[in-house]
Amino acid sequence: MSSFQSDLLAWYDAHADDLPWRASKDPYRVWLSEIMLQQTQVETVKPYFLRFLGAYPSVEALAAAPLDDVLKRWEGLGYYSRARNLHRAAQIVAFEMGGQFPPTVEGLQALPGIGRYTAGAISSIAFNQRAPVLDGNVIRVLSRIADIDQDVTQTSTQATLWALAESLLPDTRGGDYNQALMELGRRVCKPRDPLCAMCPVQAHCLAYARGTQRERPVKRAKAPTPHYDVTAGLIWNDEGKLLISQRPLDGLLGGLWEFPGGKQEPDETLEACLKRELREELGIEVNVSEVFAIVRHGFTHFRITLHAFTCRYVSGSPQALGVRDWAWVAPDELDGYTFGKADRQVIAALRARRGMLL
Ligand code: SF4
Repeated sequence: MSSFQSDLLAWYDAHADDLPWRASKDPYRVWLSEIMLQQTQVETVKPYFLRFLGAYPSVEALAAAPLDDVLKRWEGLGYYSRARNLHRAAQIVAFEMGGQFPPTVEGLQALPGIGRYTAGAISSIAFNQRAPVLDGNVIRVLSRIADIDQDVTQTSTQATLWALAESLLPDTRGGDYNQALMELGRRVCKPRDPLCAMCPVQAHCLAYARGTQRERPVKRAKAPTPHYDVTAGLIWNDEGKLLISQRPLDGLLGGLWEFPGGKQEPDETLEACLKRELREELGIEVNVSEVFAIVRHGFTHFRITLHAFTCRYVSGSPQALGVRDWAWVAPDELDGYTFGKADRQVIAALRARRGMLL
C-alpha cells in the first residue's frame, strides 16, 4: 500500500463520521444510501434513510410496496426519478435475482438508477471489490492531488480522472478507501476553502505544493440557467374540493401530484396559458380569477416562477388526457398525496390563508 493510501486510511480510521448506513455492509443498505446520496447532502439523507429502513427493512419489502407509498416517503428529497428507479430496481432484485444484489460493477450498472459511480461505490463498499469511484468530491480531491489543469467537464479529462482513481486504489480495503476519499472531499478538501493545514494527504498534494489548490478543479463557465413561467390552478368545485392531477410517470417529477397547469408559451398571457393547459390535460373549462401565490423554484437545469391562480370549475368532466390520474380532494386530504416542493409551498400558503394546521 502506498503512503498516500495508508495516510488517507489512517485518517479515516481515526476520524470517519458515524453515519447510519455505515453500521452494516449489507448491500441493500449500501445501495439505498448511495441512491439517496446522489445529488443530496449527507445531513439531509440521514432521516430519510432511517425512515425508509423502518418502513422497508429489506429489498423484498421495498419491492412489494406500492410506488405511491415509496414516492410519499421520498417527498422532499427531490430528484424523484431516483425513487421510481429505486422501486423498479428493488423489484428486479427481489423477483428476478432471488433478493441478491449483483456484486460486480457491470451487474450493478444493469439495474435502473445505477451509473458507473454508484456501481463502484456499492461494489467496493458492500462486496469489497476493487472498483474506483468518481463523484464531485473525488474529482475535486484528485484534480488537486495531481494538479490537473484541464477542464474536468470534458470527456477526455473525465477519462484521465477515472484512470487516476483506478491507479490509486489499494488492493485491499477498497470500500474504506473510496469512502475516505469522498469524506476527505466533503469535510477537508472543500470547494472554496480547502483546509490544507489539517489535511492528512497534504504531503502528497501537488496543487498544495504549487499553491494552485483554489484554482482546481478547472471547470468551464456555465451557460446561464433558463427560466420559465409556469401556471397552476387551484380549482374549486361547489363542494369545497380542489382538483389535483398526477404527472405521467416518465419525465420531471413523474408520478407526483400537482395543481394542474403548465408552461407559458411565447405571446400567451398567464390566464390563457392556464385555460389551455387545463383543456389539453384534463378536458375542462374554468374561470380564472386572482393570483393566489407566486413561488420561485430551481431545478438542476432551469428555474421556474409558478403562478398559482384561484379558479372556479365551470364545465367538462375531468379526463386523464395528458395526466396519469386526477382527483377532487378536500384541503385537509392533501397530505395523502405526494407533491413537489413548489406545490408544497402553494399548499403552505393555502393553509396559512385558511388558518389550517399543518
Ligand atoms: Fe485538498 Fe489541500 Fe489536502 Fe490538497 S492539501 S488534498 S488541496 S485539502
